[in-house]
Formats: sequence, C-alpha cells, structure tokens
Amino acid sequence: MSERKSITPTHRYRDNDRLIGIGNAFWNMSYEHGVAGIVGDLDDGVFHMSDGHEFVNFTVCSYLDLDTHPGVIDGAVASLRRFGVLDHCIPRTRVQTPVLLELEDSLGELFGAMVISAVSTAAASTGLLPLVASGHLGNGTRPLMVFDKNAHVSMANAKPSCADETEVVTCRHHDLDFLKDMCRSYERVCYVVDGSDSLGGYAPVDELAELQERYDLLVYYDDSHSLSAYGERGIGYVRSHSPVLDERTITVATLSKGFGAGGTAILLDGYAQDTRRLIERFAGPLGYSQKMNAAAVGAALASAEIHRTDELTRLQDRLRSRIALFDSLVATAQSGGSYPIRVVPMSDETVVDAARRVFAAGFYTSPVFFPIVARGTAGLRVMLRAGQTEEQITRLCSALVEAGARPAAPQPEPASR
Ligand SMILES: *Cc1c(COP(=O)(O)O)cnc(C)c1O
Repeated sequence: MSERKSITPTHRYRDNDRLIGIGNAFWNMSYEHGVAGIVGDLDDGVFHMSDGHEFVNFTVCSYLDLDTHPGVIDGAVASLRRFGVLDHCIPRTRVQTPVLLELEDSLGELFGAMVISAVSTAAASTGLLPLVASGHLGNGTRPLMVFDKNAHVSMANAKPSCADETEVVTCRHHDLDFLKDMCRSYERVCYVVDGSDSLGGYAPVDELAELQERYDLLVYYDDSHSLSAYGERGIGYVRSHSPVLDERTITVATLSKGFGAGGTAILLDGYAQDTRRLIERFAGPLGYSQKMNAAAVGAALASAEIHRTDELTRLQDRLRSRIALFDSLVATAQSGGSYPIRVVPMSDETVVDAARRVFAAGFYTSPVFFPIVARGTAGLRVMLRAGQTEEQITRLCSALVEAGARPAAPQPEPASR
C-alpha cells in the first residue's frame, strides 16, 4: 500500500494549534471560576441568574446604553412592521426594498460620508480588505498591505486572502518609521489599524495624515470602539480627528457597540458611485451573505435620530462623569483618559479569583491574563457606561479594592504589604 501523505502547514498568517492551545487554557480557567459561561435575564440594567444571583455587567460595550434605549427598541419593532420582512434573501444588487437605502442616507448625513452598510464589521473587513489588496478599492495600484500587530482579529483574519492578491506584512504597534520606509520603497502602501484600541489609546491620525499627504498612503481604520461615545454627534475618533477624509481614508465602524443597534457602517469619502456598486458586488460577504435586517436597521435609524439631539451630548457627558468617578476611586494605567475602558492591574495568579470575588459582590468584570495577554499585564477589564449609577460604580470600586486593586490617589495606600 502506498504511503498516505501528511500535511505540513505553512502557518504564515494563522495557527489554530497555537490559538486553541493558548485560548482554551484561558477559557477553561475562566469557566471553572464561574466568570465565563454566565446566563441571566437582563432587567433594568441588572442581570438575574436562575440561582438567584444578581449582578451588573461592567464589561459591555454599549457605552451610552443605547442598546436598551426604549426609542431604539421601538425603532426596531416599528421598522420590521413597516418593511414587512426581516431580510429579503436576495443580493441587494439584484432586488432590494428601500430599507438599507434609508439607513445609508441617514447615516451618510450623520457622518458626512458615503455610507455602505453590512451585517457586521467582521463581514465588511473580510470583504473590503482583499479589494484594497488588489487595488480595486483605491487608486488601481496594488498596495503593500501593512497590518498593525494589534489590528483587531476581524481585520487580521483577512491576511491570507490579502496575501493571495498582494504582499502582506505585519508591523509593530503604530510603527510610523517602518511605515515611512515602506512608503519610500513601495508604489503604494495600505496601513490597516484600529482607530481606537480596545484597551484604550488612539491611532496617530495626524502623523498618518502626513504620510497620506506625502506618499499617498491609504489607511484602513476600524473605529468601532469610539463611535457614539466620542465626537460631536458621536462621529467617533477618526472622523473627528483625521485631517485626511478623502479616498485615502477608509473607515469601518460597528453599529453594535456605542451605537446600540447592529450591523456596521463603511464610511467613504471622495469615491464615485461606481465604488458602491463594486463593493456591493465584490466585497465578499456583502455580495453573497445576509444584509443588516430590518430590525437592526430600525434600531440604527432610531439611534441615529438620538445622535442628532442633545440627548447624545447628555449621555456622553454622563459617560465622562462615570469614567471620572471610577478614576477617582481605582488606579489604572488608563486613568484620566477619555476612553471608557479600564484594565485594573492584578497578578496572573490572583486575577481569576479576583474576578470571582467581584462577581460574588454583584459585578461582572472580565479577567485577562497570561497567556491571552503578556505576563505581568493581567487585570480585570472594566467598561464604564452612561447608564451605570454612581452607587453601582462606588460599590464596584470597593469590591475591586477588596479584591486587590490599588485605590486611586489621594486615598492613602493600605499600611501593610
Ligand atoms: C467589536 C469590534 C468588532 C466587531 O464588530 P462586528 O460589527 O460585531 O463584527 C470589529 N472591530 C473592532 C475594532 C471591534 O472592537
């Protein structure tokens, strides 16, 4: 009998052995400590579990609580009734109801851009990045694709398909010198990066704008984390700060975090209507998979209306005051920043147990620890929201300090240890 072949993978861009090996150890440990796999009913901001335990979720990304806003819920229901179909399953390029066009008009006005919707940011990046890689979305020249090392997994996952269209490299986080070198040696470069990082911090939009002006650098931003929470009318960090808003800047931003709805918005400036058709036809899942459904569109339309009113400013102000209250009680590296995410430092050995204790006190925070993050950077992830009460934040902070968090100055350090 002939010998059957075994396969040696190249693992140039991904490695499931490593991913699952590392990830499963982390998840199993979280699960065993009761801080993963949690099920509960949400009622008025509080989770109720079947065993009677109640908790407030401090790791949800709906920073303005628009996901549970009565207007947004009503918008979803009304839209479903108005359009009479959740998702008419046919590519929109062939036949569509006006549901997505209405949304894209509204968001286009809100963000001052040409907007194309998609069911998720993951689907959008999966579809858009290979089009960028082949030069079809851009100026026709195949760019070197430079992925930031910390680019969100929804973008990093597109590396293998981009690599079939052009060259792909990964650079250190915000490595402007490297980008400049690449811009000097390649006809065109596209940099793929988060506009706002999930652990705080923003893309260097001004420095990137210089490279855009000088070398025609294309920047693909995912600004999912800062939409709604940041900027006038909630337009997010990139659109409120990037000096270059033309065909050299492409932004995607989820409507499922701060925006409180579902789906994603692709934001384009300076592209012709042809580009819209190209994307609708050829951007992977946008052409062959489901679209944002009528309920998500209705929620997004209602949320967009809220973004046009003073209510948004009030919610943003309230979010800022919640963040300031937290910072006055617990010390973190992110303290003082405008970003609603904090990582409360803990040791790798104690962090899961700390999460368990904080959860027992009535608050869900998510532990991150080695091997998911580097040794020595473990901690509890906390996300502040406009809808959390001051009393909830104060009690959370007491529970955190009891579990080993460092109180913020000027509170005195504990005498011992
Ligand atoms: C949460 C998040 C996503 C996922 O968005 P979906 O619309 O749910 O796919 C993508 N990118 C970043 C940066 C995120 O933080």
